Amino acid sequence: MSKALLCPCEDVTSSEVEHAIEKGYCDVESVKRFTGFGTGMCQGKQCLTAVARLLEDKVQPKPKPSQLMAFTPRPPLFPTELSLWASASFDPAKAPGGGVPDAIGLTEHALKPEHPVPAKAKVVIIGGGILGLSLAWNLAQRGETDVVVLEKGYLCAGASGRNGGGVRMQWGTPTLIQLARRSIELMGRFARDLGVNVWFRQGGYLFLAKSDAVVAKLERAAALHNQHGVPTQILTPDAARDVVPHLTMTGVKAAAWNPLDAVVFPWPFLWGYAHAAQKLGVKVETFTKVVGFEQRDGKVTKVITDRGDIACETVVLAAGAWSPAVASLAGVALPNEPHRHEICSTEPLKPFLGPLVSVLDSGLYFSQSMRGEIVGGMGDPKEPAGMNLGSTQRFLTRYSQALTEQLPQAGRLKILRQWSGPYDVTPDNSPILGRTPGLPNLLQLSGFVGHGFMMAPAVAERMAAWMATGESDELFERFTLSRFAEGRLEREDMIIG
Ligand SMILES: Cc1cc2nc3c(=O)[nH]c(=O)nc-3n(C[C@H](O)[C@H](O)[C@H](O)COP(=O)(O)OP(=O)(O)OC[C@H]3O[C@@H](n4cnc5c(N)ncnc54)[C@H](O)[C@@H]3O)c2cc1C
Repeated sequence: MSKALLCPCEDVTSSEVEHAIEKGYCDVESVKRFTGFGTGMCQGKQCLTAVARLLEDKVQPKPKPSQLMAFTPRPPLFPTELSLWASASFDPAKAPGGGVPDAIGLTEHALKPEHPVPAKAKVVIIGGGILGLSLAWNLAQRGETDVVVLEKGYLCAGASGRNGGGVRMQWGTPTLIQLARRSIELMGRFARDLGVNVWFRQGGYLFLAKSDAVVAKLERAAALHNQHGVPTQILTPDAARDVVPHLTMTGVKAAAWNPLDAVVFPWPFLWGYAHAAQKLGVKVETFTKVVGFEQRDGKVTKVITDRGDIACETVVLAAGAWSPAVASLAGVALPNEPHRHEICSTEPLKPFLGPLVSVLDSGLYFSQSMRGEIVGGMGDPKEPAGMNLGSTQRFLTRYSQALTEQLPQAGRLKILRQWSGPYDVTPDNSPILGRTPGLPNLLQLSGFVGHGFMMAPAVAERMAAWMATGESDELFERFTLSRFAEGRLEREDMIIG
């Protein structure tokens, strides 16, 4: 085992990179997500070439130069203090615009395997995000291993590899409260059940309210939480400062605090579910894009990919914010809309911030990861609908202003990395689940807005049970696509951003 350090910032050794290659991660973006190399202060400048060289030496067949391409360039190109961004100006009346694009892994990739996909499978899951992979693992656990997951990019290419890792029980409807409670229980056991450390840290969520309307929303929600066994408390601003002493409480009228909420590191969940499912016989086909469907007698009979067709009995559409585009290939109209959400991460600090803090009025949220970074984001009311994975300076400025207002010491911190991902927004902020009207073997598993990561373990557990046993489950009756045509909306309003 070589202890030679390839990435000094994140302590990644050459044998860890070789281990990633053995696991099948054969491009720099996938190896980055598996090992964490290139995510530290130097932003890959010291290690990228060494990792690319190792990939060239070890990967068989030998990769083409185009397969060893550098990371997606993202601003800030140099670590820059939050206070500098906070003092920059932007026109608040203007929509955010495109920003520096990021399309890697989401378009056809040089790593697309040359051999065809399996000719048939009982279940085909479209989308290798947290929802598709957790469903695949849960199906396999129940003995259903004739499953193929199709992912057009690398694992973590979609929203599941780009989110804030927040998991909370503080929701506005009983269903989401119960699902989140179950997910948090499953996430707490993930390392034991699947053998992967997901850096689960139960530091709580502290919501801050700056207007009477948001105070009323938090109070209503807290009463509901208490009815469902969640110990949320409404705090005065002074009491909230006892929870996070560094906060200024500028403009804050009240807070809601649940110490059982948590944060996780999203990436290991994906390869954790993927590896465990593969061990049980599931096939996970990355760099494989669904381009159409064959249908007969009101059923999907084949999924058509850019690596051949797969005949199947059941198809699950778990393509997150891309689901409407994929559904349209089957002539199905979904009402979800992608909305870009931007997010960033700072240099690491010693642990000082227990909870994830969120100002519900503005959509600001931030937490400290187990690696010490402050990871946070902020919704933008001016963001138009549409698939856009660009990164903007407008976001950095708005976020830095809002963060330093609440946490002035953060002004000295440097922002290291910035990226964005798509929220998968439905008209009522609730997911779309269950059968598709007119195509009953096309199952829906999308529309999780900005909370799909935390809902996935619990929803996938119930969906696998529903699919495998055929027993009814109200989740897959109530949250169906048909509810929109029937005017049966399931509104959720505890949305950050
Ligand atoms: C900035 C940000 C912060 C967030 N913060 C949180 C949070 O703190 N907590 C939380 O719970 N949630 C959070 N979310 C939301 C969460 O990330 C998503 O709800 C969740 O990851 C959705 O998972 P998914 O599997 O449905 O979609 P994805 O992870 O997007 O996976 C869908 C996959 O389908 C693939 N795909 C698309 N089209 C095709 C095709 N034609 N063929 C094959 N594959 C295809 C895509 O490449 C993608 O990998 C956040 C999201 C963003 C963007």
